[in-house]
Amino acid sequence: MEDTMEVPFFDLNYGQEEEEAALETIRSGWISTGPKCEEFEDKWADLHDMEHGVSLSSCTAALHLAMRTLDIGPGDEVIVPSLTFVATANCVRMVGAKPVFADVESLDQWTLSPSAVADAITDDTQAIIAMHYGGYGADMPAICGIAEEHDLFVVEDACHGPMGQRGGQMLGSLGDISCFSFYTNKNISTAEGGMLLTDDEAVAERVRVLRSHGMTSTAYEREDGQEFYDVKEYGYNYRMDDIRASIGLAQLEKLPEDIAKREKLVKRYRENLGDVDGVRVPFSDYDGRPSNYVFGVLTNHPDRVRLREQMGERDIGTSMHYPPVHQFECYEPFSTSLPITEEIGRREISLPLFHNMTFDQVDYVCEGLQECLHVTA
Ligand SMILES: *Cc1c(COP(=O)(O)O)cnc(C)c1O
Repeated sequence: MEDTMEVPFFDLNYGQEEEEAALETIRSGWISTGPKCEEFEDKWADLHDMEHGVSLSSCTAALHLAMRTLDIGPGDEVIVPSLTFVATANCVRMVGAKPVFADVESLDQWTLSPSAVADAITDDTQAIIAMHYGGYGADMPAICGIAEEHDLFVVEDACHGPMGQRGGQMLGSLGDISCFSFYTNKNISTAEGGMLLTDDEAVAERVRVLRSHGMTSTAYEREDGQEFYDVKEYGYNYRMDDIRASIGLAQLEKLPEDIAKREKLVKRYRENLGDVDGVRVPFSDYDGRPSNYVFGVLTNHPDRVRLREQMGERDIGTSMHYPPVHQFECYEPFSTSLPITEEIGRREISLPLFHNMTFDQVDYVCEGLQECLHVTA
């Protein structure tokens, strides 16, 4: 093996297919929300066993509209994980409700703990947002069971989990609403973009209206002869456009291969790191097929900033998922003690994982990590 081998943290899976798809849409003369968005919505909903898909400008928009269409607002509480991207909690604040942070299950299962959720329920609780960390599903049967018992909504932040499964069930098909992101570094990318899925036709219809200023018909629909629109409630501009949707359709063709490839790479990581002293690899007895959006491990390195520098000196890109949301300054009023989340937040390092990574690169990353841990031991 060479002394230095550049291993980026992520590499975009774009090529001629995406270029041609975008060009075709540009040449068609219709570039805003239209037939490509509809096709992308139908395919994404089908893939995740859901009735309705609504394409949006981001997952943040999807989460916000989930809160809006479930009529969550001031005085309401929503139970959320803290070991997630901040948007999972921001959407609760965007409608003026209170995020109630619950811990994850364990140092091996980094998703929302059903018992912590049960403990966090009050008379004001309206909904639970579960996040499928790294494409490994949260315990949805347990979470949905608790929700049913207390008459709560369940929203899935499924950004990490496209085409993922747990216990034979599709992630993103189990809650009242599920939200996906097509941001640049996700399993599939449209640069920016998102999608909301639901089986509830009324919710889907309201999301379509709210994504477009609250207008009862859009430019594309008015092409079909509708002359006028009304505005029944204030909305946003949260639309996806057909250029992005056509890129999304090209990316969708590549998704099964992306997931299969990531699965092999993660298997290699697990083989390499399984018995390394000072490294703990989570989700080791996961029942199902994860999407492997990111691969995070815990280390016993005393200083993660230094560890990431040491990896950088070996030309290895790393990241961290996540700084716990309840420890951000603006979440101080909602802060609480979450020992497992806090420990993961201190010790986690995300290692490179992308579609065209090689086994040699995985081995190089693992050797590098071992050296870095050894040096400080
Ligand atoms: C990426 C991500 C988001 C935000 O998605 P955007 O499309 O960038 O708004 C929300 N939640 C999780 C868990 C994410 O990973």
